[in-house]
Amino acid sequence: MLLAEIISVGTELLFGEIVDSNAAFLARELGERGVTLHRKTVLGDNLGRVSEGLALALSRADLVIVGGGLGPTDDDLTREAIAAVMQETPAEDPELLAWLRGLYEARGRVMPEGNRKQAWLIPSAEALPNPVGTAPGWFVRRQTEGGEKIIVALPGPPREMHKMWREQVLPRLPLPGRALVHTTIHTQGIGESNVAEILGELTRQANPSVATYFRKTGVDVRVAASADTEAEARALLAPVLDDVRGKLARWTWGEDGQTLAGAVGQRLAGRTLGVIEAGSAGALSLLLADEPAFHDAAVTQDHRRLITLGLTPVTLKEAGLVSEQAARELAAGAREHLASDVGLSVVLGVTGERAGQAYAALDTGTLQKTVTVNWPGDPEQVRERAAVAALGLAFRALAAGGEG
Ligand code: ATP
Ligand code: MG
Repeated sequence: MLLAEIISVGTELLFGEIVDSNAAFLARELGERGVTLHRKTVLGDNLGRVSEGLALALSRADLVIVGGGLGPTDDDLTREAIAAVMQETPAEDPELLAWLRGLYEARGRVMPEGNRKQAWLIPSAEALPNPVGTAPGWFVRRQTEGGEKIIVALPGPPREMHKMWREQVLPRLPLPGRALVHTTIHTQGIGESNVAEILGELTRQANPSVATYFRKTGVDVRVAASADTEAEARALLAPVLDDVRGKLARWTWGEDGQTLAGAVGQRLAGRTLGVIEAGSAGALSLLLADEPAFHDAAVTQDHRRLITLGLTPVTLKEAGLVSEQAARELAAGAREHLASDVGLSVVLGVTGERAGQAYAALDTGTLQKTVTVNWPGDPEQVRERAAVAALGLAFRALAAGGEG
């Protein structure tokens, strides 16, 4: 078993000015490769604390990944901290220095003296080339009685870190020879606790594991299995995956990389979609806009304009804009006035009496369906939930035969 810890270095991380997305990325990467992660630590740019954190992590783990602090300035202290823990003295590496100078010269500039420390190495460190920045990483091997321990230092900018992780670090790591396979099932229109109830005992087993995640598009269920070979892992995964698929079929709109808007697009099967939304600040159109197939969503909140789009003054007066009847009229209006095959509407309230109340309607000419969401939250949550509910409605209603 390979035990790992992650240390993210940077005062702005510690104070919450930026979010530690690097550690989240690394944690997922490690998990997928069968590496056991026990701790993530965030430390400010302080030599004493980074050295101490590093020594402590190294006393517990086989692999310590340090992110950030590899820049040229005085508060970039990761190299100094690693050197201190390894009790080695950094020296300029002539090859690295020549490479660094070359980077500047190629742009017609002279390398600032401060950058020289980016050419440092200690005897136990191997430099990891950075193809997209000036900070090389370090791959440090430390021999102990218990075997070899590894410190990896990577630059903070995510683009550099991700690339170097994949291209430089992964091939050097003594990864456990286990294969992990997984599939994520996306559902909509059912709560996380209901999903857990339906899955029952399945969520309590370790391999294959079945885990639920609450996402803005609904509840995701990830089924994962590990074994010595990929074929064995797949064989282990298959029956459990089938079981989960069967149990959740009613609510499932896709798997893995699919998007809800993309799934609706498929079900439209060439038909055009007209969209009218009121009160949602374009949240539904935004979801659709991420999907290349959709371009012509009309967005409007103007009551007079809504009346020209099919909302009747009677409904507006008696039931109000945030009502099932208004949603129905606007879905029909979206079909008719936006000259599309299928009309989809969403109306919602984010403040006042109707806050958190949303109605979505779909109209195909022969089929009308509506869905209601009534759940409090801040305006952003309400809008997002309503937009997702509208897409979920469209996905279900557009199923073969039109039965939602
Ligand atoms: P540089 O050579 O750019 O100075 P560095 O290795 O010194 O690289 P930092 O100075 O710690 O890295 O961070 C540089 C930038 O990278 C930060 O301002 C931030 O935008 C981003 N960054 C650093 N650490 C993280 C992290 N853990 N998660 C997300 N972004 C990060
Ligand atoms: Mg820096």
